[in-house]
Amino acid sequence: SKFPGDISGNPQQRQTPGIIYCTIKPEEFKNPTLIAFNEKLSAEIGLGENPEKTVDFFAGKNLPENINTYATAYAGHQFGNWAGQLGDGRAIYIGEIENNLNQKTELQYKGAGATPYSRTADGRAVLRSSVREYLMSEAMHFLGIKTTRALSLVKTGEDVLRDEQYNGNARYEDGAVIIRTAESFLRFGHFELLSAQKETETLKNLADFTIENYFPDIDLNNENKYAKWFQQISEKTADLIVDWFRVGFVHGVMNTDNMSILGLTIDYGPFSFVDEYDLNFTPNTTDLPGRRYSFGNQGKVAQWNLWQLANALFPLINDQKIMEEILNDFGLYFWKKHDEILAKKFGFDELLDQDLEFFSQWQSMIQDLKIDYTLFFTKLETVSKDSDYFYFKDSFYEDLKEESKTSFNNFLNTYRERLNLNKISREESKILMSKNNPKFILRNYLLFECIEELKNDKTELFEKLQLALKQPYDELYPEFSVKRPAKYEGVVGSSSLSCSS
Ligand code: AMP
Ligand code: MG
Ligand code: MG
Repeated sequence: SKFPGDISGNPQQRQTPGIIYCTIKPEEFKNPTLIAFNEKLSAEIGLGENPEKTVDFFAGKNLPENINTYATAYAGHQFGNWAGQLGDGRAIYIGEIENNLNQKTELQYKGAGATPYSRTADGRAVLRSSVREYLMSEAMHFLGIKTTRALSLVKTGEDVLRDEQYNGNARYEDGAVIIRTAESFLRFGHFELLSAQKETETLKNLADFTIENYFPDIDLNNENKYAKWFQQISEKTADLIVDWFRVGFVHGVMNTDNMSILGLTIDYGPFSFVDEYDLNFTPNTTDLPGRRYSFGNQGKVAQWNLWQLANALFPLINDQKIMEEILNDFGLYFWKKHDEILAKKFGFDELLDQDLEFFSQWQSMIQDLKIDYTLFFTKLETVSKDSDYFYFKDSFYEDLKEESKTSFNNFLNTYRERLNLNKISREESKILMSKNNPKFILRNYLLFECIEELKNDKTELFEKLQLALKQPYDELYPEFSVKRPAKYEGVVGSSSLSCSS
């Protein structure tokens, strides 16, 4: 199998100029065991509900001869700084599969061993973070948010050395491998790498490939195709971040290498949902000094990341004015979408000019009073004409002062008056709310408890969460639709995590 990317397949760290990938075989773990397999997804992508695959395949072991696994190189800006060549350090492409609707899906191992792009790291993943990704990417999918997905989860049977975060000491953890899927795993960083290396021809080829395969409404012969393409990337990115805002998702590491060219949620690391609404919340302990990746900053950072992509694509577009226009439009488009989604969450049939004032009043109230974002909207859906602050008591993390009770009640009155301006009925408004406000979110403390159980070979919570996350707009298990228990407040691991997760 001699093709351009086949450069012997050894994982020794190196640069790969002229190509952006190389063949590499996954590690052969001695004793892998299956933890979970996503039958539905398997059927959807055309792999069959009961594929004749063993746990070996899910672990990357004894692969058929005709599968040429490979890893790609990309670059990126990490925490605002140019980081040079990065790449699939612990991700290995298995290939692409096509279902009977001619939809193609790429598959990757994550944690199946080192690649030439691993730098000094080990190419491994631990069970803790693999369970988090397996559950969370599926949870995002069922919330209706664009994301990579998870097909399988195996324990490798091998121990992996990590700096366990609960006590600050290095220790061994169970190793794990997941197979994740996506229409494409291409990132901003792939284009940044080629541009930085001045490989304009390869950059152009990759851009054309991407447009042809994933942006079918752009005509490859159109002379403005790259500008149009960049504009679509920009909109997809804005749509994604607004969707994150809708459910309170904080990614935690929005480096440009973690930005999907298709606007998918990718790279599940130290992510978290917000419990109490807090625009300054970042789940990533590495991000604490700057809070660059905090809940309220995700739109701004996405725009900054698009600036970096614009710079990378400049050799193809060569028109500063157009690029700046698209980047400025991002802000307008983002806030418009943001306000529209907020209107839906409140059950308003349309966004009125006066709503902006209402939103900012609400925002400072919910932020100041430390109210649970998700539970607040669950309750709001069923407020009656005489409900007051007390109706919301289970969503408060602190007892309200007398003056706060008054301002909360005033807010409810304003809200009810605003609802009266709806042209739709209260019932229709409630339906709008129930479609945009999840009743179940996969809170970090639930993941934490689930992982603790799995470490002791208990799977009950793991199974239950998998059912709950498939119906996030229903309250399947009332015990999951509660605020974060007090004992987890500020606990690393249950409310925040480090980058290396
Ligand atoms: P992340 O912070 O997850 O976006 O990772 C940044 C870079 O480090 C990417 O190029 C990853 O492929 C690489 N990386 C992260 N963890 C590992 C690991 N355990 N082994 C090898 N490479 C890794
Ligand atoms: Mg990454
Ligand atoms: Mg990562």
